[in-house]
Amino acid sequence: MAETKTVHSPLVTYASVLSLLTLCPPFVTLLWYTMVHADGSVRQTWDFLKQHGLQGFINIWPRPTAFSWKIIACYAAFEAALQLLLPGKRVEGPISPKGNRPVYKANGMAAYTVTMVTYLSLWWFGIFNPSIVYDHLGEIFSALVFGSLVFCIFLYIKGHLAPSSTDSGSSGNIIIDFYWGMELYPRIGKSFDIKVFTNCRFGMMSWAVLALTYCIKQYEQNGKVADSMLVNTILMLVYVTKFFWWEAGYWNTMDIAHDRAGFYICWGCLVWVPSVYTSPGMYLVNHPVNLGLQLALYILAAGVLSIYVNYDCDRQRQEFRRTNGKCLVWGKAPSKIVASYTTTSGESKTSLLLTSGWWGLSRHFHYVPEILAALLWTVPALFNHFLPYFYVIFLTILLFDRAKRDDDRCGSKYGKYWRLYCEKVRYRIVPGIY
Ligand code: NDP
Repeated sequence: MAETKTVHSPLVTYASVLSLLTLCPPFVTLLWYTMVHADGSVRQTWDFLKQHGLQGFINIWPRPTAFSWKIIACYAAFEAALQLLLPGKRVEGPISPKGNRPVYKANGMAAYTVTMVTYLSLWWFGIFNPSIVYDHLGEIFSALVFGSLVFCIFLYIKGHLAPSSTDSGSSGNIIIDFYWGMELYPRIGKSFDIKVFTNCRFGMMSWAVLALTYCIKQYEQNGKVADSMLVNTILMLVYVTKFFWWEAGYWNTMDIAHDRAGFYICWGCLVWVPSVYTSPGMYLVNHPVNLGLQLALYILAAGVLSIYVNYDCDRQRQEFRRTNGKCLVWGKAPSKIVASYTTTSGESKTSLLLTSGWWGLSRHFHYVPEILAALLWTVPALFNHFLPYFYVIFLTILLFDRAKRDDDRCGSKYGKYWRLYCEKVRYRIVPGIY
């Protein structure tokens, strides 16, 4: 088996593994507890823990119940069935480092539509009330924490015993293999792609499902939905709709084309996305802030614009690559660098790097509207508590780290061509600043 390269140094990897394994599960529990039972106040949770100590913490940690496993199993089975059965165009992913080209069925938008319509219909016709999900959220997150860990162990064993393609390998270190993963494109059978399931159909889909859940819960609780909740829900749904609209494009990004299926990405998508990414909405359930029509509309418009710009950055890069540079970028022929590189199997190839449009402003300008959109769907919570802003702070740190990782990776892939790009486009993320 081929050796895999670690993304960070072993020391950083060990520190990340340890902190993710030991800090993230309790964090998810504390986040849920604070939002749902402590008025969103970190201070209130802190005082509780100070008073009751470790035993208090053990008491608030919900145990996974049969009901929570049932909810997760029904949802996962439904999404897996949609992924397998819904029709979709055949789409080819980017060539992997081993020269393989994964093939996908692009049925994300159909799966998203069916999921949303089914969930709303279940509520509308009185078959299943989404409020129940909110009422059992602690147990569901707890079950996800443990279930996903077991799933990651399965990925590790599969990577060793039955890899789906030659894009798999061991670093020789069990912890690094478990954490960063072994397989790039693990599959069950020929066509069930595991990363499409964990990242898109389970993780991203749960974001939309939970955004609706929080909104419905507030409606059921108060008989109406506050404008702050509406702005938050609409913006999150616009974001997730954009994601599924562009899902085949996502299959060309770092998450799919470079990051292997391990604890880092899969546990993150299965647990962190449903809990942390949705947390501003979770907060708003019990905080029906009224913004007033004008302010609500301003925030909504700014949020939609940010999501559009983020989409357009991704679209511009992909359109440029798809047409081999024969397209218009902001109405003009694109400026570009023809970058050569050598694959791990020694083959010489070329890629085009776009140096105009959004990609001429900075090398990762698309992260700016991504962060702004997250800020804008959080700001309806106003500023009484810090916790709703946790996601946007986490996202900022994640994307700054990701930009550095991507620059390092592209630097070693393209060498002098990447250095030329850095000279032409000097800033990494924020034009004129960083
Ligand atoms: P992308 O994969 O879309 O872009 C980076 C890759 O594009 C590089 O690895 C390189 O790949 C290629 N590339 C770099 N510069 C250029 C250029 N100038 N011209 C052409 N190609 C170039 O980045 P991400 O995966 O980080 O982002 C994709 C989307 O996902 C974004 O919208 C982002 O905001 C979002 N995102 C959201 C997160 C969240 O948690 N909410 C987390 C991460 C991303 P190659 O090897 O092919 O040259």
